[in-house]
Amino acid sequence: MTIGVWVLGDQLWEGQAALQSCYQQKSHTPVILIESLNHSRAMPYHLQKLVLVWSAMRHFAEELRQAGWSVSYYRAAEDFQMPLQEWVVQHQITELRLMAPTDRPFARWLQTLTLPCKITLVPSNRFLWDEKDFMQWAGSRKRLLMEDFYRESRRRFRVLMEGDRPLGGRWNFDKENRKPPKGGLKTPKALWFEPDAITQEVIDWLKQSDLFQRNHQYWQIEPFRWAVTRQQALQVLDFFIHTRLSGFGPYQDAMLTGELTLWHSMLSPYLNIGLLHPLEVVEAAERAYLENQDSWDLSSVEGFIRQVMGWREYMHGVYHYTDDTYPQRNEFNHTHPLPKFFWTGETDMNCLHQVLTQVKETGYAHHIQRLMVLSNFALIAGLSPQEVEAWFHAAFIDAYDWVMQTNVIGMGLFADGGMLASKPYAASANYINRMSNYCGQCAYRAIARTGKDACPFNFFYWDFLNRHRSQLGSQGRMSFILKNLDKIPLEEMAAIHQQAAEWHRFA
Ligand SMILES: Cc1cc2nc3c(=O)[nH]c(=O)nc-3n(C[C@H](O)[C@H](O)[C@H](O)COP(=O)(O)OP(=O)(O)OC[C@H]3O[C@@H](n4cnc5c(N)ncnc54)[C@H](O)[C@@H]3O)c2cc1C
Ligand code: SF4
Repeated sequence: MTIGVWVLGDQLWEGQAALQSCYQQKSHTPVILIESLNHSRAMPYHLQKLVLVWSAMRHFAEELRQAGWSVSYYRAAEDFQMPLQEWVVQHQITELRLMAPTDRPFARWLQTLTLPCKITLVPSNRFLWDEKDFMQWAGSRKRLLMEDFYRESRRRFRVLMEGDRPLGGRWNFDKENRKPPKGGLKTPKALWFEPDAITQEVIDWLKQSDLFQRNHQYWQIEPFRWAVTRQQALQVLDFFIHTRLSGFGPYQDAMLTGELTLWHSMLSPYLNIGLLHPLEVVEAAERAYLENQDSWDLSSVEGFIRQVMGWREYMHGVYHYTDDTYPQRNEFNHTHPLPKFFWTGETDMNCLHQVLTQVKETGYAHHIQRLMVLSNFALIAGLSPQEVEAWFHAAFIDAYDWVMQTNVIGMGLFADGGMLASKPYAASANYINRMSNYCGQCAYRAIARTGKDACPFNFFYWDFLNRHRSQLGSQGRMSFILKNLDKIPLEEMAAIHQQAAEWHRFA
């Protein structure tokens, strides 16, 4: 009997469950990694994401060989099926093991795969909470509140705890973490890398491929500066902890022209392909805080830990908790097509122009840019949630189905009717003007609601509230905002509605 292990492109660490299940026999265990062109053609993925995943896979295959595994690597194969077939026969494999994939579409495809051997899915160990534990937690609740889940996570993994109580006496310091970027903020540097020979080879290969021909009109492939090995990802983690973690909190929601990272960690690309494990990230942050308690603010460290062991785990849990209809949800029946400028970045709305250009150049934007600029616009302008989700999935370096559905369909667009957010994240230019310096350089006026130079975020915002007034009225947290809506004179409301409708006609 010969067991072989198939390692997927988002399962790149030796401690992953399928490799671990064969660890004692590693020199006799054939391992396969496959780059599938068909899989990469499924949507116009950001070119830097393709470089990241394929370069990280090639590096990981090398590391496995050095660690004594017997590795077969298929470069730029047409699909997964053919190489698997060939490899199973060649190595006389009787059982193919792989760690259960996280994304549902891939898991469904796997069920259709036929090979001349048994296929075993080993339960995944890439998250802190496995699906079963999350279901148990969720099963007994009326509402799946992230805050409740986060507290349970802190207790369960004993992070930032003093006995049964949260360290510092509070679970959540979010209110202290929303400072606008006033004055000349001195922002810290991020850690980037030059492509090595393996990465350069992937870049050069891609540049002459049909994938480049199809996608380069949307995305830049160079400069490529992301980490591609676990060792580099650990360096990014260490650099973040020592240069930015202590300041993570206060300006978490701030946005500045030309500032890609601010105090954000840039860890999602690595967490999402397995180069880092969430528990080691959380523990490293906690350890650094405990060593620097005298000079570091707990609010920053708590704020960061909440992102990783709260939001990230919660989004993954909710993804598996929901059924197959979740990706098709459309609470507000929004059907406007995605405007072309999402792909080109060419719009005179400066906030969108800045963030879209940044995504084109790097595949990255930080949370508030994604939530309060990109998806906020899509929500209030009434764009189709499914078109928006497809764009996010193609555009971001850290995008995968599990993280996309809940963040875009749920958090960003409220298309799930409030399963995971207590109110829609809808905002006018007022929010963007307060939290960024984008509006100062814009063709529109952030304070104008109607008229030639009115900011589209304003007329879309009020029109959105008005159009969905009855649905929104049932969300308790909306009552204050709806009172403000009632103060707008009827004639102005009609002008707002007309301007919103005309925008779509000429978009
Ligand atoms: C519309 C929208 C789309 C998003 N798309 C993605 C995506 O494709 N991939 C992705 O990993 N995250 C996504 N997020 C969540 C979050 O914006 C990113 O994880 C974060 O911006 C990544 O940058 P960072 O590593 O610098 O994060 P930091 O701000 O430094 O946060 C630390 C870590 O917390 C985790 N995290 C924080 N919030 C979330 C969240 N809501 N869901 C999952 N993880 C979270 C991430 O792993 C992140 O690396 C999206 C959020 C929104 C609102
Ligand atoms: S004025 Fe409106 S469109 Fe311009 S940057 Fe501000 S929010 Fe964006």
